[in-house]
Amino acid sequence: MTANGDLPARATILIVDDSRTIRQILKRVLVGDGYRVTEAADGSLGLAAIRSDRPDLVLLDVDMPVMDGLTTIRAMRADPEMSTLPVLFLTARTSGTEVAEGLGLGAQDYLRKPCEPSELLARVATTLQRSRQEEELRRRTQALDDLSTTDPLTSLGNRRRFDLRARELAERGDADQLVGVIMVDIDHFKAVNDNEGHSVGDTVLTVVASRMAAVVDGRTTLVRWGGEEFLALLPRAEPETLRLIAERLRAVIANSPLAVGVDHTVTVTISLGCAIGPLDQLPSVIRSADSALYDAKARGRNRVECA
Ligand code: GH3
Ligand code: MG
Ligand code: MG
Repeated sequence: MTANGDLPARATILIVDDSRTIRQILKRVLVGDGYRVTEAADGSLGLAAIRSDRPDLVLLDVDMPVMDGLTTIRAMRADPEMSTLPVLFLTARTSGTEVAEGLGLGAQDYLRKPCEPSELLARVATTLQRSRQEEELRRRTQALDDLSTTDPLTSLGNRRRFDLRARELAERGDADQLVGVIMVDIDHFKAVNDNEGHSVGDTVLTVVASRMAAVVDGRTTLVRWGGEEFLALLPRAEPETLRLIAERLRAVIANSPLAVGVDHTVTVTISLGCAIGPLDQLPSVIRSADSALYDAKARGRNRVECA
């Protein structure tokens, strides 16, 4: 059995080396073990080949004209499209510093030239297997992250997503930037549950959420804050824009009844409270939006109040 025999699909290996002879030797061994092989004669051609051939692993020579191996790994690791693509670099030198530098730049492993076919195949197979496991782990972690920050009923983000976005904003720029917050609460929602049943209440929450999501842009983070409350976070918000967006949200709910079943509609309205303040004082901005919401309720509901 070949080392590649257990792999689910034929893996593609890209050989980047300026020596045609070396490429031929490596290719013969790899093809003999069932791999698909593509080639490039320097780092810059290698980067182009990665984009066009989508290899599963790159064998990368260090000394090459035009673009050497270390510069190539650096470029790969900086590019989100190839930042996790495994690299085994090929070094003719016996010095350990080059090996250390290559590994430090994110290569998975290295091979000294000339190398034994069995060692080449063993290192390639091990690196591919490890890379598949890491990919699977990344995929599962992402799925868990999505799950833990999503509200299962409305598919909007939840409180955790809101906190995450706030932290991302703070990490990306100035923590004292002004952010806008809109707190939304469905009016007399208890009556919807009482008159229509809890399950229709759930549908109303879902339809309200999707209508609101349709009118905010990609910069706005809209989440289900809890119960029948929603919260929007707007980076670098101006007071007029904030009020405008809140008014748009109010209108998209109040302007037409919500379809909750075949020939069954429910009319609801929402009240909204807005506030603007520094990102690093977000809890107090949220409290201000909440108290503006309270004012909107007190002044008759189906309205926007700003702190
Ligand atoms: P107000 O206009 O003052 O906001 O009145 P309200 O009736 O909307 O407010 P209240 O806080 O008294 O009631 C909120 C209701 O929302 C009570 C709760 O049972 C209901 N609710 C919270 N979460 C859910 C949910 O996930 N599904 C359903 N169907 N109802 C929910
Ligand atoms: Mg309510
Ligand atoms: Mg409420």
